[in-house]
Amino acid sequence: MSNAIYRGRFAPSPTGLLHAGSLSTAVGSYLEARSRGGEWLLRMEDLDPPREVPGAADDILRTLEAFGFEWDGEVAYQSRRHGLYRAALERLAASGQAYACCCTRKEIAAHARRGLDGYVYPGTCRRGCPDGREGRAWRLAVAEGDAVVDDRLQGAYRQDLARDIGDFVLLRADGFWAYQLAVVVDDAEQGVTDIVRGADLLVSTPRQLAVYDALGLPAPGYCHLPVLTNAAGEKLSKQTLAPAISTRDAARQLRAALELLGHVPPADCESLDDLWRWAAANWLLSRVPAGPLQLPHS
Ligand code: GLU
Repeated sequence: MSNAIYRGRFAPSPTGLLHAGSLSTAVGSYLEARSRGGEWLLRMEDLDPPREVPGAADDILRTLEAFGFEWDGEVAYQSRRHGLYRAALERLAASGQAYACCCTRKEIAAHARRGLDGYVYPGTCRRGCPDGREGRAWRLAVAEGDAVVDDRLQGAYRQDLARDIGDFVLLRADGFWAYQLAVVVDDAEQGVTDIVRGADLLVSTPRQLAVYDALGLPAPGYCHLPVLTNAAGEKLSKQTLAPAISTRDAARQLRAALELLGHVPPADCESLDDLWRWAAANWLLSRVPAGPLQLPHS
């Protein structure tokens, strides 16, 4: 790969097939990378086997290909990168920034208050697990005070990690790596300079900045694209039964994704090639609405 100044990526989890929301995220991150003369990597975030759908990873790749996305280099699979996550956790543990935790969900629920993304861990094991108990999960000790994400589309987003989130999990008690650690380790190791993804992940970004900071790594730029919702105002996801996109009428769906992102191709742009050519020449992040956006036909 070249020494591109801009390197973006798309990082789907194979816990379901692509839907209109993930397509628009892929389109936005792809066009932003290409319009800046950058590279665009593809990473399969297959970290959580119990939640994965058999065949979804291949289906996602085939669907992206059929839509005409062209990624740089080989697809990276998180399931093959556990050694990197382990090395990062060892560094954080050695520097005293990560600690083992023995608390069960039930114990946490009994003592904790709710924050922005589930319970705020009350710090029970911060100074060591109680006698006779062994920690299996690992958490990052977070600092108090405002963390600010300077998002290119959503503007300044503030969060006090200690108050709103608490010490969060890096390695789960069931032995699986947490998204918050793996995503940072991978983006840093792969040289990603700019992360363009869905705004549902904005709430995670201060945690990721804390991991960059704890590892002494430079953080990338962030741009969180609008979340798409169904007619009931729910974010499109597997949980809200968002329909998978089909490759049959890809051009119509690509046009719809571009329109949602504030880019309306001329009527005579009909084929995938025409649409991509027009979009690459006309893409401007300033045209993209911050959202959330309701899908017209859901
Ligand atoms: N794998 C995550 C998802 O599908 C996205 C991770 C990211 O873009 O940071 O929601």
